[in-house]
Amino acid sequence: MADPILSVRNLHTHFFADEGVVRAVDGTSFDLHSGRTLGIVGESGCGKSVTAKSILRIVERPGRIVSGEILLRRKNGSVVDLVTLPTDGVEMRGIRGGNIGLVFQEPMSSLSAFHTIGNQLIEAIRLHSRLTKPAARARAVELLAMVGIPRPSQRIDSYSFELSGGLRQRVMIAMALAAEPRVLIADEPTTALDVTTQAQILELIRRLQQERDLAVMLITHDMGVIAEMADDVVVMYLGKEVEKGPVDAIFHAPRHPYTKSLLRSIPSVLAEPRSRLATITGSIPHPFARPGGCPFHPRCPDRMSVCETSVPQEIVIGENHATACHLYTRVPA
Ligand code: SF4
Repeated sequence: MADPILSVRNLHTHFFADEGVVRAVDGTSFDLHSGRTLGIVGESGCGKSVTAKSILRIVERPGRIVSGEILLRRKNGSVVDLVTLPTDGVEMRGIRGGNIGLVFQEPMSSLSAFHTIGNQLIEAIRLHSRLTKPAARARAVELLAMVGIPRPSQRIDSYSFELSGGLRQRVMIAMALAAEPRVLIADEPTTALDVTTQAQILELIRRLQQERDLAVMLITHDMGVIAEMADDVVVMYLGKEVEKGPVDAIFHAPRHPYTKSLLRSIPSVLAEPRSRLATITGSIPHPFARPGGCPFHPRCPDRMSVCETSVPQEIVIGENHATACHLYTRVPA
């Protein structure tokens, strides 16, 4: 496989509140490759979105990256560690949008209601290019057509509230790709959409990825979306990656009890009528009451006494497949 475009190495991002420290991301590592989709999956509060914000250096206070590296291979081939860049410096602002595009879950909170979508797109295009306003407008129409907005030369003068949820998400994707980035981070891009629109947006992301050889990082709580879209998967729990590997291994030979629980909770059309959907026992602990030992132990059906005191280390269990669980490690007595 070619060199990754983006490598996250042992990233720790913590929030320092008066009540204590929240270890939102607690040592995660992964690579993004051109033309491939990495799915990051886990329940709410497992650190998926903070990982994305850390990459873009937009973590809000009182959060900050405590340690780790985020290595980005730029369009000219040079590698930069984003952790070392000032968050509001010229370089980081150029990388946001220029090298890494971002699509959020809720376009209404990202698109301004006071400006037409055309003006917002033109601004995004001119931020990363020297195009004149008329040329940027022509490019904006092209982008709207590329993401499947009907009658783009008329729709460009619409406001976001005049569009459906699906069309707004298409506009967000056009904005994210305005400066031709090589990496696209999509944070729950379809969660707020109905099932049909969800399928259309996922198909759009897949098509654009193929046309542009994009490296896609897809954040979701939905294993169904992962099955549909991902080549590689990272399963996160309480800021830690508990299992990672190729999508086939994760679905057909999952090892970590949390991954198995997530898979059991996928609704199936083959299920008996009126049968109960399996859920994961318990709930995610309060951020200030993180359990010792394995963070999943209070909810784990396979826990052993060692799990309450000893943090499992990640071990390789197959080709590109690793997990962090005492079931697969030999722990000193
Ligand atoms: Fe369960 Fe123990 Fe494995 Fe944690 S380390 S997932 S508690 S078996």
